[in-house]
Amino acid sequence: MLNGLEAAEAVGLKLKLNMVVMRGINDQEICDFADLSLIHPWSVRYIEYMPTIREEGWQERLVSGAEILKRLQQHYPLESISSGQYCGPAKPYRIAGAQGTLGIITPMSDHFCNSCNRIRVTATGRLKSCLFSEQAVELKPLLPLGEEEIVRVLREVISNKPARHRMDSEATMAAPFSMSNIGG
Ligand code: SF4
Repeated sequence: MLNGLEAAEAVGLKLKLNMVVMRGINDQEICDFADLSLIHPWSVRYIEYMPTIREEGWQERLVSGAEILKRLQQHYPLESISSGQYCGPAKPYRIAGAQGTLGIITPMSDHFCNSCNRIRVTATGRLKSCLFSEQAVELKPLLPLGEEEIVRVLREVISNKPARHRMDSEATMAAPFSMSNIGG
């Protein structure tokens, strides 16, 4: 994998490396990923685990952004940096002297739905206003209707974005799903 990333860097691509941190699965690699930012101009981003498939014990798998930050601070002199144009919801940091940056994304412990600017198109052509919304619009039947109608529907979907997700609530959680199916 590293060879591929370095080849991408060599041809001038800007790289973001996302790590979904899961306790007992890969959380021992938090610093290994941070080390990559020391010698590469990459954006290494840690994302809190989102329980989209609701497996048993998912709560224990979750490592909060606050814990990730604390664990990083125990090993590195971290500086807070200002958010870049393409930073998205990540809270950005840099290890002093590093070439790249670190980012922490907290969909579970400190959601950012109120500033979400994403819509999603699934692998089967359904448009969703939120990763976790049950509602979707079939896009294919819209294609013959022309640009004006498509724009109208897009505006409607965007204006109906939910105020926030409810992944932390068993009662209101969407049915289990795989991120790869919804363009996550
Ligand atoms: S949960 Fe939905 S509204 Fe919140 S950030 Fe993710 S896609 Fe956006």
